[in-house]
Amino acid sequence: MLYWGSFKMQKLAMSFAFPAQLSLKKLKRDSSKKCLMLDLDVRFRQFYSPQEYLLYNMFNHHFFNGSQSVSVYEQFLIEGKNNLAVVMDPPFGGKVEVISHTLQTIDDEYKHLNGQNASDISKFWIFPYFMESQIVSNLPSLAMLDYKVEYTNHSQFQNGPQGRKQGSPVRIFTNVSLQKLKLPAREGYKYCTFCKKWISPENRHCMICNSCTFKDGRTYVHCDQCKSCDP
Ligand SMILES: [Zn+2]
Ligand SMILES: [Zn+2]
Ligand SMILES: [Zn+2]
Repeated sequence: MLYWGSFKMQKLAMSFAFPAQLSLKKLKRDSSKKCLMLDLDVRFRQFYSPQEYLLYNMFNHHFFNGSQSVSVYEQFLIEGKNNLAVVMDPPFGGKVEVISHTLQTIDDEYKHLNGQNASDISKFWIFPYFMESQIVSNLPSLAMLDYKVEYTNHSQFQNGPQGRKQGSPVRIFTNVSLQKLKLPAREGYKYCTFCKKWISPENRHCMICNSCTFKDGRTYVHCDQCKSCDP
């Protein structure tokens, strides 16, 4: 596992069963998994060894401590052959093209080190739902998961009385088949048999659009004039 921007990740509400890969608490208990954090926050140095944390800027794929850091990173890509996940939660103002380019570079370096036949890196990019079209146009292998990511330290990203009425606008974009990512039924998530994926409680399959059209937490209704589903 390659963790990215893990500082905020640790503050995510990770009480859900899904996806096990994203739960740092679980990871710490599970010694079979290894984790490398890449982050711009120097405070990590106090808590992690130089093998676990590298001072890094994701916007230009820069390792601050030169070749020593690069070799830790490359060694990690090699060890993670066929079994590597990248989880990243960039600042929401970050430019999608730039972040996509970095992700593509990591992909290229991974394949360069492990061969073109190595299985793809599983990617989890945490970002607001309204960036979907930008993300997908830059990285067509990614699709948006309906899961609402909540940050315990930001009321605007939470469900409930202090948060937005529609709940958190933050989602997960991933190249892992959405069919495989089971969302917690006890929180109301359900399975759409047409789309073959888990969807939000508010979401509804539209037979005309042939898709579950919900994006922002409201239930959409199909409009015949627009030929699309609108909030
Ligand atoms: Zn559907
Ligand atoms: Zn309309
Ligand atoms: Zn529709």
